[in-house]
Order: sequence, then C-alpha cells, then structure tokens
Amino acid sequence: MTDVLVVGAGPAGAATAILLAERGLEVLVLDRAAFPRPKICGEYVSPEAARVLDRLGVLKALDAAGAVPLAGMRITAPDGRTIEARYRPVGPWRPYRDHALALPRETFDATLADRLRLAPVDFRERVRVTDVVVEDGRVTGVDAVGADGTTRRFTARLVVAADGRASVVAQKLGLRRAHRLQRMALVTYLGGLRDVADVGEIFVDPPDYVILNPVTPGRVNMSLVVPLADAARFSDRPETFFTARVKQLRHVARRVAGADITARIRALGPLAYRVAPPNVGGVLLVGDAAGFYDPFTGEGVFTALRSAELAADTAATALRAGDCSVTALAAYERTRRAIFAGKARLTHALQLAIRHRRLANFTARVLAGRPAMLDTLLGVIGDFVPPRALLSR
Ligand SMILES: Cc1cc2nc3c(=O)[nH]c(=O)nc-3n(C[C@H](O)[C@H](O)[C@H](O)COP(=O)(O)OP(=O)(O)OC[C@H]3O[C@@H](n4cnc5c(N)ncnc54)[C@H](O)[C@@H]3O)c2cc1C
Repeated sequence: MTDVLVVGAGPAGAATAILLAERGLEVLVLDRAAFPRPKICGEYVSPEAARVLDRLGVLKALDAAGAVPLAGMRITAPDGRTIEARYRPVGPWRPYRDHALALPRETFDATLADRLRLAPVDFRERVRVTDVVVEDGRVTGVDAVGADGTTRRFTARLVVAADGRASVVAQKLGLRRAHRLQRMALVTYLGGLRDVADVGEIFVDPPDYVILNPVTPGRVNMSLVVPLADAARFSDRPETFFTARVKQLRHVARRVAGADITARIRALGPLAYRVAPPNVGGVLLVGDAAGFYDPFTGEGVFTALRSAELAADTAATALRAGDCSVTALAAYERTRRAIFAGKARLTHALQLAIRHRRLANFTARVLAGRPAMLDTLLGVIGDFVPPRALLSR
C-alpha cells in the first residue's frame, strides 16, 4: 500500500504528486496516456500560474521550450470596439511575472511529466483506472488496466483524483452532475495569421466567442465557443460548421482572413459540469476532476495547479495524523471553494455579457473609459488580483 495514489498526470496530478513527494510521502501516479499527449485547450497560462510552476521547478524549462510571453489581452466587442490591457501591478497586487504564457499543451504537460519523472515518484503511463475501491466508507484504492491488458488493484492511504473532465473517480463515486450552461468548443491552429502581437485576442460576438493565442511563432491557437445546440447537428462535420460559423462572425472573419487552418478541428462539449464534494473518506478531487465551468477567463490550468497546492497541504496533514476521513479532508474542499468563489462569481457574471450583445457592447464601452478598472479586471483574469478589488473600482 502506497501513501498516495494520484490518478492522472496532467497539471493537477503532476503538481500534487511533486508537492507530496517533496514532503517525503510515497506517491504512485497512474495515467492512461503516454506523454507527450494531446489536450484540447486554449493554451493560455495565466501570470499567477507562473508562481506555482516556479515552485514546481518547471518555469525555466517551459520558457526554454518556447512558451510565448503574452503581455496582455485585446478584446473586441460585438460592435467592433477594441480594448487592450497589459498585465501590470494593481494597487498592492503584482503579477508574479508581467506576462501570461501561451504554448501547446502537448509541450506544457510533457514538461511537467518530465519533472515528475525526476521526482521520487512511481510514475506509470498507459495505465487506465477503471474503478474505485470503496471499503467501510472510504476509498482504499483503484482498479486499473495496464498496457498489456491485465487488470490490477492498487491500494493507497489516500487517492487523489486528477483525471480531468471525464474523471472515472468522480463518476464511480456518483459525484458528477450536468450543468445547465450548454456550450461546445471547437479548437484548431492557424498558420499565416498577420499582425500577431504579444497579446491574446478575444472576440465576443454573442452567443459565441473566439480566442486567439499565439502558441509558437507562426502558429496560433483558435478556440471558438458556441451554444451546444447550434453545433450538435454538425457533430460529424465540425469543419463545415466551424468554417460557416466563423464567416458569420464579422470581426473574427476579417481578423483571420488570409490565414490557414493548419490542424484538424477538435470539438468538445458540453463544457460545463459540476462535481459534488466526496461523501466518502480517502479521496480528494483536484483540477477538472472537481468541476469545470467555461474557458472564457482561462483559469483552468491555474486552478489545477492551485488546487494541487491546497490538496497537498490537506493530504500531508491528514496522512501525518493518520486520519483521511471525510471530516479530516473537508478542510481542502472548504479552502478550495473559498479561494475560487470570487473568480467563479466573476466568470458567471461575464457569461451574461457573452450572451447579450448590448450588454457586451456596454461593458466594453465602460471599460474603455476606465483604464484602472480594465487593469483590475485583467489582473483578476490573470489570477493575481483578488476579485473583490473589482468592487472598489
Ligand atoms: C476548450 C477548452 C479550452 C480551454 N482553454 C484553457 C486555457 O486557455 N487556459 C487554461 O488555463 N485552461 C483552459 N482550459 C481548461 C484546462 O484545459 C483544464 O482546466 C486543465 O487541463 C485541467 O487540468 P487537469 O490536470 O485537471 O486535467 P487534464 O489536463 O485533463 O489531465 C487529466 C489527466 O488524467 C488522465 N486520465 C484521465 N482519465 C484517466 C483514467 N481513467 N486513468 C488514468 N488516467 C486518466 C489523462 O490522460 C490526463 O493526462 C480549457 C478547457 C477547454 C475545454
């Protein structure tokens, strides 16, 4: 029996495993994939994520791998008004670095996986967890199928579910719930986009939005998010839907004119779902395994890394005390909710603007006339300014 079994070696799982191994705990990590592996994502990493990445010892490696620094964001409203802001100190809050990063998730996750391999961690790839073992009201392990097709049981004092949006652990424990926000993302790469600057670009055109992030010189991630019902009819022809939809988005169409789609369109939806806190002991859920709302404000990777820090704190305390009961582990859930509640409220509020053309235009007009408020908003989106700071603006 190992101390901690982490299911999934994406940002949440890799970070949790590294932080727990650093505390001298015995850690086993299982991932169904072999790294590098693909991941549908807008590929923006917020400035505050750099703090955790530095703590994990991978920030320099990510820079060396060609991560593109993004100094800010340019937002185009439905009426074509453009506002641009840069990451800069806001009152007492300063970004860990004055830029976000954009890089392919394949590179980002593989760099974290390389770091994991250097840690005193038993990291096994191509091992797919298929079930969760629950005994006497607590999770005691998982069943998993290896690359050779054989099923094995792994036991642990604590299981950390970091297995992403389709979390087997959350599903087997009956924690996953549908969300009423029904959206779908279509993601691809563009080549030959002109005038690429050092900013991410967002186009709000209700009910859709599009994000452009330059992930390598000459390669731009393009993510189109639309109501699920609109795209569902074209599920077997995502290319047809994508091309037709982009043509209808006037400002986006003009922006990407002349650029080439250089990768298959990958579609994912519904994007949002909820996950209830575990009602058994011996398990913590981190990153997307604990729920997901919408990629508009780009905090998924930061949330994965930050929730890993919080989970590692709670796990280390619980394991040291020899108590991994629901009550002992509830501290993590409380802290996680408290820390992310403000940003969650902001992302919900921004959804209103994404859905309503006039509100989106009004919001852009207000922000254009109030640079301090715009800086604060970008700081909140960049995860280094607490959302409450917006209220004082
Ligand atoms: C369209 C879209 C765009 C996004 N854009 C951004 C963005 O620009 N910036 C941002 O910060 N966030 C973005 N996000 C969110 C971000 O991608 C996620 O929040 C982040 O990847 C969560 O990390 P994770 O480690 O929890 O999960 P994942 O990165 O999904 O990792 C989960 C790991 O678990 C493994 N796994 C899964 N099932 C099993 C199993 N049964 N057994 C063993 N292993 C398993 C997988 O192989 C994987 O390696 C976006 C999300 C979507 C859907």
